[in-house]
Amino acid sequence: MTSRTHAFASLTRPEGFDLAVVGGGATGLAVALQAAWAGRSVALIEAHDFASGTSSRSTKLLHGGVRYLAQGEISLVREALHERKALIDLAPDLAHPLRFVMPAYRWWERLFYGAGLVTYDWLAGPSSLGKTEQLSRAAMRSRYPAVASRHLRGAVSYCDAQFDDAGLAIAMARGAAAAGAVLLNRVRATGVTPGAGGLALALTDPFTGASGHLKARDVVNATGVWVDDLRGGEPMVQPSQGAHIVVERRFHPADDALLLPRTADGRVLFVVPWLGHCVIGTTDTPRDPADVELGREPLPFSAEIDLILSEAARLLSPAPTRADILSAWAGLRPLVKPSATAGSATHRISREHAIEVEPNGLVTITGGKWTTCLAMARDVLRALPRHPFEATTPPGITLPSGMTALAARAPTPAEVAWLADHTWASSVEDVLARRSRLLFLDVASALAAAPVVASALEAQTGRDADLAGFQLTAHAWMARFRQV
Ligand SMILES: Cc1cc2nc3c(=O)[nH]c(=O)nc-3n(C[C@H](O)[C@H](O)[C@H](O)COP(=O)(O)OP(=O)(O)OC[C@H]3O[C@@H](n4cnc5c(N)ncnc54)[C@H](O)[C@@H]3O)c2cc1C
Repeated sequence: MTSRTHAFASLTRPEGFDLAVVGGGATGLAVALQAAWAGRSVALIEAHDFASGTSSRSTKLLHGGVRYLAQGEISLVREALHERKALIDLAPDLAHPLRFVMPAYRWWERLFYGAGLVTYDWLAGPSSLGKTEQLSRAAMRSRYPAVASRHLRGAVSYCDAQFDDAGLAIAMARGAAAAGAVLLNRVRATGVTPGAGGLALALTDPFTGASGHLKARDVVNATGVWVDDLRGGEPMVQPSQGAHIVVERRFHPADDALLLPRTADGRVLFVVPWLGHCVIGTTDTPRDPADVELGREPLPFSAEIDLILSEAARLLSPAPTRADILSAWAGLRPLVKPSATAGSATHRISREHAIEVEPNGLVTITGGKWTTCLAMARDVLRALPRHPFEATTPPGITLPSGMTALAARAPTPAEVAWLADHTWASSVEDVLARRSRLLFLDVASALAAAPVVASALEAQTGRDADLAGFQLTAHAWMARFRQV
C-alpha cells in the first residue's frame, strides 16, 4: 500500500473523526492544528495542494491593518496585532519583524500618519515589534536613495512583520500531522450528508480514482472563496482579486518595505523586499463568483499590472516597467458579503471573518486574513454544533519548518525527494510554487528548473509529476505580464 492509499484509507475509516476540515489554506490548517493540539481526532482534506488557493498569493505580511485603524476598527486591529506576534513566536524561521516606511509628500502627512501609527504601537502593547519613527527628507534620501524624492517631505516608519505564506501553511500541516491529524492533499469533498452521530463527506481522489466517505461528528468548511459550493442558502462570499508583480531588488535595494498610503483608487500599495526580490502590490478587483470556479487559475488582469506599475512609479526612481517584471500572480480574497449599508467597493468591506452553521450542522468559516488564522480557528472550534471547545496554543511550541533554505531557489533532486516524503509534494507545481517559491519570484527560472524537478519527483513517488500542467500554468502567468 502506498502512503497515499494508506492515508486515503485512514480518512474513510469506519469509526470516523471528531472533526473533519475541508480546505487546506490558512483557515482550514489553523483549525486542524488547534484541534489536533487539543487532542481531538482530526482529518483535513484539500482539493489541490495546501495553500494553493489564496493562501500562497498574499502580500506575505503579518499585520494589524493600519488602514483598518483609519476605518475605526480598533478591536480588529488590536486582535490582529496580538495574533501577528503569536505567529512569529510559533514559526520564528518563517516570520520576522519588518519595518515599513511611509513617505510623506504633503506637509501634514507626517503628523497625520505619525499620530495614527503611534496609536498602532500603543494598541500592540507588549506585542509591539518596534517603535514608530519620523524621518526627515535628508534621512530618507540617504537611507532610501531609490525612493522618488520629488515633493518628498520626509516619512514615518513603523513595524509590522513578514512571513512565507505557503511555507507557514506547510509547517502548519506538518505540525497538525505531528499532533496526530490525518491530512491529505488532492482529495476533494463533493457533498455533505447527515451520517450516524454527525456528517459524512463524499470524497474523490483524482490520483487513484478512489472515492469514499469521511465521517465526523463536526465538519468545518474552510474552502475560502469556494465555501458557497458546499453550502445551501444565501452566498456568504464576495470574491475580490488582488495582484502583485515581482521585480529585481535593485528597484528598492533596502531591507525595509515601502508603503504608499493612498493610491489613485484609494488603496495602499506595498513595495516589499522578499527573498532577494521586490514584491509590489496589490489591487482590489471585484470578481463574479461564477468566474472563480475551483481549479481555474486566477491571473492578474493587464489593467491591474498597469495600475501597480503606475503607482510604483510614484514611489520608485528609477521605476520598473513591464519589461522588468519577473513574475506576477493573483489571489482571491474571500470577503464576507457586505451588509446592505456597507457600499459596493470591495476594499471597504471589512476583512473580519464570518461563521455560519447550516441546518445540517456544517460549519462554514470565511473572510479574515492570514494574520488572524489562529484566532479564527479558535472562534470556529467554539462554534461547533456537536462538540465545541476552547482551543489554546500549547505554550512554547514552534512549528517544524525544515524548508526555509529552499525558498528562493529550485531544490536539488535530494531535496525534492525529501519534499515528496515530508511535505505531501506530488507535482512540479507543488515544489516550484509552494515548497520553493521560485514560480512566484521568477517564472523563467522556474520553467528552466522544472524538468529536473519532474524527474526527481517521479523517481521518488513513482507517479507522473505533471510537468506539462506546470508549464501551462507558468506560461499563462508569463503571458499576463509580457502582454502589452
Ligand atoms: C492579494 C491578497 C493579498 C493578501 N495579503 C495578505 C497579507 O499580507 N496578510 C494577511 O494576513 N492576509 C492577506 N491576505 C488574506 C489571506 O491571504 C486570506 O485571508 C487567506 O489566505 C484565506 O485563507 P483560506 O484558507 O480561507 O482560503 P484558501 O487559501 O483559498 O484555502 C481554501 C482551500 O480550500 C480548497 N478547497 C476548495 N473547495 C474544496 C473542496 N470541495 N474540497 C477540498 N478542498 C477544497 C482550495 O483548494 C483551497 O486550497 C491577502 C489576500 C489576497 C487575495
